[in-house]
Amino acid sequence: MHQKPDPDAMGASLALAGVLSKLGHSVDVISPTNWPDFLKWMPGAKAVIDYESSKEKANNILDTAEWLFCLDFNALYRTKSMTKKLTEMKCLKVLIDHHEQPETTVFDYGISNTCKSSTAEMVYDFIAESGNESLIDENIASCIYAGIIGDTGSFRFPATSGRVHEIVARLKEKGLKHSLIHEHLYDNFLEDRLRFIGHILLNRMEIFYEYNAALIAIPKSDLLKFNVRTGDTEGLVNYPLTIQGIKLSGLVIDRDEERKWSFRSKGSFDVNTFARKYFNGGGHFNASGGRSPETLQKTVQTFKKALQENESQLQ
Ligand code: 5GP
Ligand code: MN
Repeated sequence: MHQKPDPDAMGASLALAGVLSKLGHSVDVISPTNWPDFLKWMPGAKAVIDYESSKEKANNILDTAEWLFCLDFNALYRTKSMTKKLTEMKCLKVLIDHHEQPETTVFDYGISNTCKSSTAEMVYDFIAESGNESLIDENIASCIYAGIIGDTGSFRFPATSGRVHEIVARLKEKGLKHSLIHEHLYDNFLEDRLRFIGHILLNRMEIFYEYNAALIAIPKSDLLKFNVRTGDTEGLVNYPLTIQGIKLSGLVIDRDEERKWSFRSKGSFDVNTFARKYFNGGGHFNASGGRSPETLQKTVQTFKKALQENESQLQ
């Protein structure tokens, strides 16, 4: 899975691992970094290896692996400090992913489909089409469901096809308790996080009505003041899009190693291209991310300049 995994990356990985284990394979799940507390309930999450904190153990596993499944990312750099290791590995590499512009030469086999709502949906199809649908139990169903609601914004984004709803109907037959999953993912934070969101919306959000765009820039001091933890900033980038007329939202966080950007858009503004062009990133048409080695102030200037350059597309 990609660094700082979200519900889709973690859910798709654990679901596939669950089925492969039932088929008698020896499976290990590795995350390039740690993951938010709101993913810790996922069946199998306790056994996931954090590459950053267990490098030796993970490298031993990778050295003897026969197959490597890469889920919810399509470019090796998305695995951060694992990139070098994955590049060197000679075993068979399989891609299952729904992001734009995959690094196709890196993988031996792959399913890459940007029309899919989530990697979790693709993993469901992979399991079902390989004749193993009967192996999906409540635990595996919960992981797939978490991935689907994470990436569809609970069934609201355009990629939520009829097929997605059909899959969920099948998962319900497996015993899925859907409202419990929503609670695990969305009602599972500490007070600090809500106070932090209040502070950010009041003091750190800038609206550029002339460009139908918004920016949230979060300095390191805010992260420290509110004890912000992995996952606490998830979803913040969506708030500006609830303002009438806003088509583009950018969120930048001053992380130790880089300035991490998230972009969301509505309608015809392509944030995959935007993130690629200005911020060394990519992703989907309406949701993408990127990063910058510049200071927070400088990268904010770059964003503002990019708004000017994209004025016509933002109208
Ligand atoms: P988020 O804003 O939630 O971190 O990312 C939004 C989407 O863009 C996710 O699907 C994520 O995988 C993708 N994404 C985030 N950062 C990057 C990046 O640096 N490069 C690419 N190619 N995709 C990214
Ligand atoms: Mn995804």
